Amino acid sequence: MAIRAVRGFKDILPEETGLWRRIETLAQGVFNSFGLKEIRIPILEKTEVFSRGIGEHTDIVEKEMYTFSDRKGASLSLRPEATAGLLRAVNEHKLYAKSPVLKLFTMGPMFRHERPQKGRLRQFYQIDVELLGTKAPLSDVEVIWMAWDIIRQLGLMDLRLEINSLGCPKCRPRYRDDLRTYLKGVFQDLCPDCQRRCNTNPLRVFDCKEKSCKKIMEKAPLIRQYLCPECADHLSKVLDFLEVLDIPFVINPYLVRGLDYYVRTTFEIVSPDLGAQSTVAAGGRYDGLLKDLGGPDLPGVGMAIGVDRLLLLLKRDEEAPSIDLFVAALGPMARKKVIPWMGILRRNGVRVQMSYEDKGLKSQLKQANRLGAHYVIILGEDEIAREKVIVRNMSTHDQQEVSISSIILALETFI
Ligand code: ATP
Ligand code: MG
Repeated sequence: MAIRAVRGFKDILPEETGLWRRIETLAQGVFNSFGLKEIRIPILEKTEVFSRGIGEHTDIVEKEMYTFSDRKGASLSLRPEATAGLLRAVNEHKLYAKSPVLKLFTMGPMFRHERPQKGRLRQFYQIDVELLGTKAPLSDVEVIWMAWDIIRQLGLMDLRLEINSLGCPKCRPRYRDDLRTYLKGVFQDLCPDCQRRCNTNPLRVFDCKEKSCKKIMEKAPLIRQYLCPECADHLSKVLDFLEVLDIPFVINPYLVRGLDYYVRTTFEIVSPDLGAQSTVAAGGRYDGLLKDLGGPDLPGVGMAIGVDRLLLLLKRDEEAPSIDLFVAALGPMARKKVIPWMGILRRNGVRVQMSYEDKGLKSQLKQANRLGAHYVIILGEDEIAREKVIVRNMSTHDQQEVSISSIILALETFI
């Protein structure tokens, strides 16, 4: 039996890569206009990077990571997200020393051992942004703005921005205590996972996908009423800027996100067309994270776009031809003559192909048609003798003779 790919790991086929490239190019353009620099980081890190960075008591670290020991017994993990590894790199290379505000992006595959379904893979792709070194509300807004711009420029209009504040170490503990008290009262009705979360990480109960837990949490106390004046002010400034930018938002008081490191702003961009896996992009502020990872106390805010989910929303492109010109050379002499021409054309960005086999004219024209070539140049023994080349327009079937000496110049006007 032929070997198949690992469950939840997907091939991106040639007919899809055009769209992938379009998304990546568009994102790079947007990041460039916001002054971001690219960083590329390893796919594999010491497990500690994620357990310390994302939090021991998160679904990602507890249940979803691909963790294994290497041959020397060190615990390594495939990255489940980009932020923790990126901050490890910022620390290691002291990138913050070069500029007070760091604006970085990275793209690539992430790995989580989840149940594969539509919009949920075990290897999936994220476009990730991190702004470090500022607490200013406008930096939260720029992060949202970039995600919004990329998604909008891809032509996706039917999206919703949901936003919330998770408070800070000053105001969250009081809220967490009250939430814990509430959860104690409903403990018996919670799912086993949430019963565990009551002690380890009560806010995460909001993130449970179980219907019964969701219902219970509708009556839970909400962080909104507990925000300290600084956090409330931060949130209202963020919302003001979003209004200025005309980015519509809804405040979702239940939005807590699955990662431990968030403070203040958290957000998701959600599509109604994606069913259960509806979040296309998500992010938030994580002021204590760099310090937790052993670095300086630099604030930060970031987001990740799930490229696989974005793709589910985009119409497939019509398959575009990957050729401009086909060269039909007939006979060994002609084949040798055209090869240098192909070199010149290719160096000038013209997409040229010829038949690998020495075939007759009819079969070569058929091949040119199948590839979608607009023009074919035809060169046989007879044309060589007359120092001529035939240029054929494949849609009008017009043919013209051009002298061999001026063929390259002539082709420039045809193509
Ligand atoms: P979910 O609640 O859907 O599990 P999450 O909160 O775990 O999402 P994040 O860690 O915030 O997701 O990742 C950011 C984005 O990456 C998500 O909004 C989504 O678009 C994408 N993403 C996350 N996990 C997967 C996955 N297993 N397969 C495909 N895309 C994913
Ligand atoms: Mg998840």
